[in-house]
Amino acid sequence: MLNAIECIIDCLPEPVIVANPDLRILAANQSAKQLFGRNLVGQWLLSVIRQPEALDCIARARGQDGILETIITVSEQNLDAEFKFAVRQVEAPDYQLSGFVLTLTDISKINDAEQIRRDFVANVSHELRSPLTSIKGFIETLKGDSWDDALSKSRFLGIMETETERMSRLVSDLLALSSVEANERIPPRDPVELAQVINQTNVSLRQLAAANDSRIEFTIDPEKIRVYGDFDQLKQVFQNLIENAIKYGGERESVSIAATTEADTARVVVVDQGDGIESIHIPRLTERFYRVDSHRSREVGGTGLGLAIVKHIVNRHRGRLTIESEPGRGSRFTVVLPQYGTGEG
Ligand code: ADP
Repeated sequence: MLNAIECIIDCLPEPVIVANPDLRILAANQSAKQLFGRNLVGQWLLSVIRQPEALDCIARARGQDGILETIITVSEQNLDAEFKFAVRQVEAPDYQLSGFVLTLTDISKINDAEQIRRDFVANVSHELRSPLTSIKGFIETLKGDSWDDALSKSRFLGIMETETERMSRLVSDLLALSSVEANERIPPRDPVELAQVINQTNVSLRQLAAANDSRIEFTIDPEKIRVYGDFDQLKQVFQNLIENAIKYGGERESVSIAATTEADTARVVVVDQGDGIESIHIPRLTERFYRVDSHRSREVGGTGLGLAIVKHIVNRHRGRLTIESEPGRGSRFTVVLPQYGTGEG
């Protein structure tokens, strides 16, 4: 009978332990052994599970006919993970079985996702609040005497326009991010010519480059590189990277964009000569709303979402984004994508 129980609970993905009424372990599945150690069977349950909440739950389950639950923390390879701990008493005299069945469900990922969602809502609210406060303030001022002062009126309306544009960019970026996330699991299957994508971004970025006195240099070798791609999304990737290179690359500096092929991949490298980024920031740059210098980002019209959008699009394309930078030595953003016709799409 015990062998049959062990065989069945071994098929379950979550840790399961069966104990007798004296709380000695009768059976444990592989997941439970991975969590608490190999030699579980025969041990006292209390020497394995010591969390007071869990012990209280087991005590309350005695003589009851339902499932009792609590949340416990278990250390796994020096990392604390949260589990939903559930216990139910079993009394099956026909099978000479009596005792308790305990199951543990890892809820750390759910908690993390919930935390990410809460942070995201807090960030969006914060990002919208400052332009809204500013616009509201200027409306109040204009409703007073300033309306008759042509100079103040035009200045305040100018600021309100800038703030409205900031909110509008934020909303567009949020929509772009959610649309990429929605279809991230479905990789594009159609061919896209990289030169065409990059040339189109060039057109829209020319104005920004001119205002900044930046020189943009393109090299695409060989001329016709095709990747598995979604044209508009790839355009957004290079648009964001080149825009950042211009914005953070310093005035009157050059920005170079080079596309090459290597085996079955295509590689696009965007290099600027700006102030660079300290290494501690690099792994976090693709997080939503992560900025090295919030003030500078806002000054250049940033939303803090550009690189998060890039990362999700590159993931959808089954590609790779790498960021290399050193303070004072500029930055290099590399996107590697599967070439069309290589069977990866
Ligand atoms: P933002 O809208 O703030 O530019 P991004 O997601 O595009 O947001 O970039 C996140 C942050 O990464 C920026 O705020 C900036 O601090 C840093 N960053 C991005 N690109 C560069 C670059 N080329 N040089 C230096 N810092 C950069």
